[in-house]
Amino acid sequence: MFNFKIIYKSQTSNARLGELTTPHGIIQTPAFIFCATKAAIKGVTTNQMKQANTRIILSNTYHLMLQPGEDTVEKLGGLHKMMNWSGPMLTDSGGYQIFSFGYGSVAEEIKGNRKNSGLNKINKVKITEEGAVFRSYVDGSKQILTPEKAIQVQKKLGADLILVLDECTPFHVSEKYTKRSMDMSHRWAMRSLAEFEKINQGKQALYGIIQGGIYPHLRKESSEFINNHNFFGNAVGGSLGQTKDQMHEVVGITMATLNKDRPTHLLGIGGVADIFNGVRNGVDTFDCVHPTRLARHGGALMKKSQTQDSREYINLKKSIYKNDNGPIDNTCECETCKNYSMGYLHHLIKAGELLSYTLLSIHNIFFMNQLLEDIREAIKNDTLDDIRKTYLT
Ligand SMILES: [Zn+2]
Repeated sequence: MFNFKIIYKSQTSNARLGELTTPHGIIQTPAFIFCATKAAIKGVTTNQMKQANTRIILSNTYHLMLQPGEDTVEKLGGLHKMMNWSGPMLTDSGGYQIFSFGYGSVAEEIKGNRKNSGLNKINKVKITEEGAVFRSYVDGSKQILTPEKAIQVQKKLGADLILVLDECTPFHVSEKYTKRSMDMSHRWAMRSLAEFEKINQGKQALYGIIQGGIYPHLRKESSEFINNHNFFGNAVGGSLGQTKDQMHEVVGITMATLNKDRPTHLLGIGGVADIFNGVRNGVDTFDCVHPTRLARHGGALMKKSQTQDSREYINLKKSIYKNDNGPIDNTCECETCKNYSMGYLHHLIKAGELLSYTLLSIHNIFFMNQLLEDIREAIKNDTLDDIRKTYLT
C-alpha cells in the first residue's frame, strides 16, 4: 500500500519529482504538509483544506496523547474519520514538542529569539535511556513517552506516515552532548522500528529521523545509520542552526549522505526561501505552522515580485488597506481572493472577527499549495531559478 517513486530528476540540482503512495491516496512531491496540531487546522475545515488544493496534513502525537488521549481518538474512528479527512496524514512522534517545551523551541533559535531557550523549570523534561518523563500541560499528570509507546500511540491515531521517537536537541548544546543524544536517538530509532515491525498491519509506514545538530560529521554518521536500517522514509530533524545560512548548509550536508530512494521530509521548516533550498537538495516534503499562524496575525503570503514589502507576506492590519477594494492578489484563485477585498479583511482583523482567521488561512494554504505546484512544474522544465525569482525578489 506504500510506495515512493521518483518520476523525474533535475539535471542541474538534486531536485526531483516523486509520487508518494499511501492507503489514503497519492501525493505528488515536493509537497507541503499542513499542521493540524491538535487534530484541527485552526479556523479551517477539512473541506476548506481540500478546496484549497491540500493533499496531506499532519497532527502531533504529543498534544493528542494528552488531550483527548489516543484511546479516545481510536474510539472516534481514528484521525481520518474523526477529522473528516480522507487524504494522507502524518503524525510526528512527540519528541520535538516534549523537548521544545523543555528547552525552548528550535524555531525560536533560528529566528534568533533565544530568550525562551534554556531549561524551563515548569515543563522540565527528564530524559533517560528508557524514554522521556514529563508533566502534562493539560492536567499536570506525570507522563512517560518511550520509543515503543510513541509507536503504539501513533497506531491508535492511525495516520499513514509515522515517525520514530527522537531526542530533539537545541543548537546551543555542546558537540559532546549532541553526539551522546544522537547515539541514544539511534537506539530509540531501533526500538521504535522493532515495535513497529511487531504491531504494524501494513496500514502505516515508518520514517527514521536524522539527528546530529549542526555538526557535519555527526549529520553524516546519523544519515548513514538511518540508511542502514529498514525505514520507509527519512526525516531530517534536530537543530539546524542559528541562522538561515547555517540551516541551509546543515540541510545540504545531511541530504548529501542520505539514501536517495526514500521519501525525505524536512521537519518544521516552511519559509519560502527554505523550501527552495530544501527542494534543490532533494527534500520531498516540508511542514510548518507558519502559513496558518501568520494568517492569525493578519499576514497574507505574497510573491515578492508582487509586493513592495521586504518580507514574504503583507500585513493586512496596516491602515493602508482600510479602503482597498481589491483582493490580496488578483491572480490568486483561492476562495478568499475570489470573493473578498483587502478592505473587508482589514476590517475583520480590526474588529476581532474570527472569520479573518479563516479567510486569511485559506489564502495562505492555497498560496503554499500553489508554490509547491509551481516548484513541481519548474523542476520538470528546469526553471527552478526563474520561479524562485518571482517568489523571492
Ligand atoms: Zn488568495
